[in-house]
Amino acid sequence: MEQLRQRLLEIYHLNSILAILGWDRDVFMPCEGAQARAAKIAYLSGLLHQKIISLDSDGLLSKLKERLGQPKVYPAKKLPTEDMAIVRETWRSFKREKKLTEDFVKELAETTSQAQMVWAESRKKADFKTFLPWLEKILHLKKKEAGMLGYDKSPYDLLLDYYEPGMTAEKTEKILNDLKISLSDLLKKIKRSKVKIPALKTKNIFSTEKQIDFNKKVAKKIGFNFDCGRMDQSVHPFCVGFHPNDVRITTRYDERDPLYSFGSTIHEAGHALYEQGILPRYFGTPLGEGVSYGIHESQSRLWENMIGKSFAFWQHFYPILKKEFPTPFGEISLEKFYCSLNSVKPSLIRTDADEVTYNLHVILRFEIERDLMEGKIAAKDLPEIWNGKMKKYLGVKPPNDRMGILQDVHWAMGGIGYFPTYALGNLYAAQFYDKMKKDMPDIEKKISGGNFGEIKSWLGENIYSKGKLQSADELTRAITGEDLNPKHFFSYIENKYTEIYKL
Ligand code: MG
Repeated sequence: MEQLRQRLLEIYHLNSILAILGWDRDVFMPCEGAQARAAKIAYLSGLLHQKIISLDSDGLLSKLKERLGQPKVYPAKKLPTEDMAIVRETWRSFKREKKLTEDFVKELAETTSQAQMVWAESRKKADFKTFLPWLEKILHLKKKEAGMLGYDKSPYDLLLDYYEPGMTAEKTEKILNDLKISLSDLLKKIKRSKVKIPALKTKNIFSTEKQIDFNKKVAKKIGFNFDCGRMDQSVHPFCVGFHPNDVRITTRYDERDPLYSFGSTIHEAGHALYEQGILPRYFGTPLGEGVSYGIHESQSRLWENMIGKSFAFWQHFYPILKKEFPTPFGEISLEKFYCSLNSVKPSLIRTDADEVTYNLHVILRFEIERDLMEGKIAAKDLPEIWNGKMKKYLGVKPPNDRMGILQDVHWAMGGIGYFPTYALGNLYAAQFYDKMKKDMPDIEKKISGGNFGEIKSWLGENIYSKGKLQSADELTRAITGEDLNPKHFFSYIENKYTEIYKL
């Protein structure tokens, strides 16, 4: 086992170096550096591929797998040993990687690294045509990848499985369709409600520096450790951990709306708490990662929405926000502010969407990327398809592609299969939060008092510290005593918005 750990450590060093190159590209690198950076990333990705497939060149991994053979499903509350989990996860990535060729891995890495810079430019200019050939190339590569990996039903399945192990297009469609129906119903009720909540419209300019100050205060207060992390700016907000002692988050600013950056900050800080909370001794093994993208997202959405959009949260932070920006907030009551923060209004940008319409944005992306992979639609028609679905699900029409098809970086990253994990994250978050409230009946009092220590400890004990010992299903059962159950999300959302909109 020691020998395997040694080999894995090399792999994790390479992975972290790649992540640092990506972070620097997205935060600091001048745009002309794109090609040279992509070449470096491709080179290291090729090296990483070699290292992963050579894990079993002398049969070491196979032998360990044989020796540590394990049942497929663990009983709730019972953890596999660390060695068992390391071998299970290593085998999983080894098996996948072995089906790909080094040339393919390098080409995909180089293409997606450059495409992200092209995307940022195209987005700025609202010009889909410049991005289109890159997107077409990425889709071609992703189809090739699906072919190499092999699939039964849909080429989308194994791409999704990379982000959410065990998930398939069929299962996702079922969950998302149920969500689509209930959320569309709730949205109709909200639209019919007599309660109308005007958006907080101000003509003020909120300086970026002051916004940064406020965001840093919040991130620190909820437990982000700035001695083990940084906060910067990028075109699309993200969080990346190189080690539990070095976790980076980014956000983006709009000087007309301080809540735009705030939402992304607390979201990414939620991811960062998870990364900082993984035991340092797990670094260098697959255990030093989040369980799945859906579980990771649950940690950001829990802080962003369940906590960060609660009345209790702003009982504590609103006076601080008012102090930072006396105009206009000095004139606006906490109650009015809370309602505006939670007003439900179909809008164009996913990261900015309210809790009721957010999942509809995800569903639209899921349908598009699955249809792209299954060859049912073509990339060149995407702006039209996108706008049609926006109209159908949300009743809004993007004025340009910047506010539409070009808003998210994911497809430029090659992240086909990533979006559904956002909806799953919302479901996991509600289920975990429900259990947390049962374990901590005075949670609102803690939040309104600005005491987040116990919440962080609860998450640390139940989720962060476990690393990747269990699968998403096992973790969910161990914490809540049941499988993923969307009913928790529905009741959370129904209760909250019935109260706000007096439904
Ligand atoms: Mg996220």
